[in-house]
Amino acid sequence: MKLRMLVVDVGGCEGCPLAVLRSLPSIPLDVEVHSQYLGNLDLELRYDIALVTGSICINDEVAVAKLKKVREISEIVVAFGSCAAVGGITRFCRGGQDPRPEHRVFQPITSVIDVEYAVPGCPPAPQIINALLVNLTRSASPFLKVFAAVAKVKKLSGFDLLDDVVLAGLCIGCGACVLSCPTNALQMIDQRPDLIVEKCIRCGTCYVRCPRASQILLTRYPAQIKVLARGV
Ligand code: SF4
Ligand code: SF4
Repeated sequence: MKLRMLVVDVGGCEGCPLAVLRSLPSIPLDVEVHSQYLGNLDLELRYDIALVTGSICINDEVAVAKLKKVREISEIVVAFGSCAAVGGITRFCRGGQDPRPEHRVFQPITSVIDVEYAVPGCPPAPQIINALLVNLTRSASPFLKVFAAVAKVKKLSGFDLLDDVVLAGLCIGCGACVLSCPTNALQMIDQRPDLIVEKCIRCGTCYVRCPRASQILLTRYPAQIKVLARGV
């Protein structure tokens, strides 16, 4: 059975939608992809899955209304990429781009709508896209739990990693956080990660990759796993 998937960007750099489209040839599913801009969104169709990328400008009433409509017409909504999931680099935005907000008004889409899953990454790795779609269509896998937990969080960053794991004495020095950071904002010093604060774009990738931090997420936010009702 064909899977109807919406890929829509609400205010990002387009890196995440590009990452989705580039990974599609390797996905072992029959997927009908509708890649659209928020401005010309086809609201007549219904979708099995909506991958929403970018953060939402809460000054833009039209964009906010359309995002809510995406929620209505989609069985499963995924906040895909760091901006949609936890705000990411757009936390630092101050106008200068349409719709030219006056001050920091970009928010993760979870500030406006409930989503089933949030996947940090700047952009997320192609393997994550592949595994996410397979698990959503075939099984209620533990793989989904951490992304269901992130859907309940409004921000995640290297600061949270240091507070919750390193300074709490839970770090085992595995280095996964350092390897996952897209801006080299983490470095190992004395077998523990240290944060170069000026480089952290608050993407949250390190937090979900850390085996300790992901356990913290699962404890704080017991996961509600949802997969597609009809499967594929
Ligand atoms: S330390 Fe790196 S991976 Fe972690 S939130 Fe900052 S930029 Fe992202
Ligand atoms: S991923 Fe977690 S446990 Fe591993 S080095 Fe980083 S903070 Fe420590």
